[in-house]
Amino acid sequence: MELAKRLDRLPPYLFVEINQKIAELRAKGEEVINFAIGDPDLATPSHVIAHMCQAARDPANHRYPETAGLPELRRAIAEWYERRFGVSLDADKEVLPLIGSKEGIGHIALCFIQPGDLALVPDPGYPPYSLGTILAGGEPYFMPLQEENDFLPDFEAIPAEVADKAKLMWLNYPNNPTGAIADLDFFEEAVRFAEQHALAICHDAPYTEVAFDGYKPPSFMQISGAKKTGVEFHSLSKTHHMTGWRIGMVVGNADMLDALFKVKSNLDSGIPRAIQYAAVEALRGSQKHIAGHNAVFQRRRDKLLKVLNEIGLKARIPKATFYIWAKIPQGYTSIDFTRKLLDEARIAVTPGTGYGKEGEGYIRFSLTVSDDRLEQGISRLLSWHARSNLDCV
Ligand SMILES: *Cc1c(COP(=O)(O)O)cnc(C)c1O
Repeated sequence: MELAKRLDRLPPYLFVEINQKIAELRAKGEEVINFAIGDPDLATPSHVIAHMCQAARDPANHRYPETAGLPELRRAIAEWYERRFGVSLDADKEVLPLIGSKEGIGHIALCFIQPGDLALVPDPGYPPYSLGTILAGGEPYFMPLQEENDFLPDFEAIPAEVADKAKLMWLNYPNNPTGAIADLDFFEEAVRFAEQHALAICHDAPYTEVAFDGYKPPSFMQISGAKKTGVEFHSLSKTHHMTGWRIGMVVGNADMLDALFKVKSNLDSGIPRAIQYAAVEALRGSQKHIAGHNAVFQRRRDKLLKVLNEIGLKARIPKATFYIWAKIPQGYTSIDFTRKLLDEARIAVTPGTGYGKEGEGYIRFSLTVSDDRLEQGISRLLSWHARSNLDCV
């Protein structure tokens, strides 16, 4: 048998070696504190689970769902956008539920990217933006996100011929992995740039509800003109701790959603209905758990940041997302430093280069570890720092 060449273009999975090492250590009975996984440790709210269980018992929900999702779910999504962001959406044309937003993020490349086409992709960035482009036969053109620009792309630095040739531009704020945020002025600028170069914008926004210190992240859809140029991906995963249930959505430009629907209706058969009803409840029911979850992440953020700064792993204070993007000492690569933390402190983090070459010099800590494990992780970091001859300044 012969595998398709496109598989050769997928980069090696950076975490394989680290995950293998964690598994080996655990097999030897050694405990590793894992700060590498961006998956909330807290449970899905019980009122959401109750609705899911009730819907699961109804035989009407045991049949194939529709690719377009239940009309009730599309309406619940539109109402939530109206309540939360003051954005009005046509529930039938401007809302499409997804089997987790990653699914739509990967598939939308098939609607825009022909062999040889470019997509503008942030670096560092969530890997599916570039991998979807590559699987569609296109080429990612990386927009560096650098600390001196507050981890925002510099549109002026993109050569005009590249921007003209590109079909899609990916953006993601609040940002994974840097924890950076963007304001409405930035989104305005992005829309102007997209209009100038006839680009479609895909804004990925799963972290708008994971925010601290009273900050409320905006939606890209709040910009007039956003609907003309783009869509926004969102998700129930991070907001309601529903990563395992696989449900998300994309909203905005009706033509873009129609194109994605065409691809999806030929590849998938929708989201299990019980999970759609759970999402309706998550969107329409009590939202009290969100503030509770954020208080937990904020407390963890402050505890870990204090120690990281003490031991010389300098990081900005993230106003949103549950990630800390910390600078490593000079003289190490992200991978070397990640190995060192695992070998010497039994702490797992994600090497910055897992998100692109601009991630070199950084590691990412995720705050999705329980409070107990966080405390343990902090004391390991402190004692490791005390005994290591690391020159962290
Ligand atoms: C978690 C995450 C997603 C997707 O989550 P789904 O569970 O697939 O909805 C999308 N983008 C970024 C940047 C993420 O961190």
